[in-house]
Amino acid sequence: MGVDATTLANWLSSYDCDSITIGVVASHSSLQILHGARMEGFRTLGIAVGENRRRFYSAFPGAEPDEWLMLDDYREMLDHAEWFRERNVIIIPHGSLVEYLGAENFRNLEVPTFGNRGILYWESSRARQREWLQAGGCTLPKIIDNPHDIDGPVIIKYAGAKGGEGYFIARDYRDFRRNVNLEEEFTIQEYVLGCRYYMHFFFDPTATDGFQVQGRGELAGKNLGRLELMSMDRRDESNVDEFYKLGSLRDLREMALEPSFVVTGNQPVVIRESLLPRAFEMAEGTVSASFELEENARGMLGPFCLEAIVTDKLEFKIFEISARIVAGSKPFIGGSPYSDINEPFMSTGRRIARCLRKALNQGNILDIIS
Ligand code: AMP
Repeated sequence: MGVDATTLANWLSSYDCDSITIGVVASHSSLQILHGARMEGFRTLGIAVGENRRRFYSAFPGAEPDEWLMLDDYREMLDHAEWFRERNVIIIPHGSLVEYLGAENFRNLEVPTFGNRGILYWESSRARQREWLQAGGCTLPKIIDNPHDIDGPVIIKYAGAKGGEGYFIARDYRDFRRNVNLEEEFTIQEYVLGCRYYMHFFFDPTATDGFQVQGRGELAGKNLGRLELMSMDRRDESNVDEFYKLGSLRDLREMALEPSFVVTGNQPVVIRESLLPRAFEMAEGTVSASFELEENARGMLGPFCLEAIVTDKLEFKIFEISARIVAGSKPFIGGSPYSDINEPFMSTGRRIARCLRKALNQGNILDIIS
């Protein structure tokens, strides 16, 4: 399903492209998106449930929306599609929007949206992510299909778990049985020991300069667009990040404590410069492979994040991809050590707005929305 190209073009033909409004659900990375949109000269709209949420934004006048749409439930956005379109709104999606609306509703929301909504289908299942990342030449942690085969540390992940909630580590089958919730769908992954890097990339298919992603298959020999590294973070995860302070895993088990992976914040990091070429190689492969995914001819578009562990052999293991702006880009509202090299004060939120601004000026807005 989703919105077809003709419908999208019809909607856009009635838009006043001189007064586009950037609309965003007031959560996740919205401060950065609103701030970036304003820096690129757009009007902004906040969508919120609850007066408290709206009031909170007055603490950040630099990002406070010009206008608010207050709802009782985010699903009411679906009934406001015409209202949005009458106001020339382009929605910037983020993780909370997809979660609040549900993937299917988001796909069918009848409002122009930045990026390719189709790619979220590939992002939404671990099996599909794996297929995509492997096709892109990424190295991934091993999967253990049969819990009886666990013979070293593994991490058990539940499908659709929010912020690592409910994940646990097991060393053998007994550990696994003791902690697993068999009612939920889960994946068992090799636990990779190393340092985590969440690499925030941006793919702009309308730019013909910079690091150009090379097409493959039917697109071989074509430059697909420009790949940029915006920033890198590491998540704060409670309580695993502080676990070591209480002793060994065995000591902790004696105290009936298990590590958990609930995201509570983010810290800026950079990676060894000699690792960057491999990071780009994998990001390029992921983008070019995205154009070959079934029912996804439009490929990757805009921000995405490769979530990696680097081992002491200096090998990357990519354990997840997010095909949209990630919350970990927030430490960089004022720019990052990577994006500053190209242009100061360029956050991912602002980069999205810049992409829209440029497309509006060039008359190719339909290439970057869905
Ligand atoms: P995810 O939901 O896949 O982003 O994983 C949440 C957190 O679990 C990550 O931020 C890591 O701290 C940890 N993690 C995920 N996969 C692995 C893995 N294969 N090995 C070690 N730690 C992992």
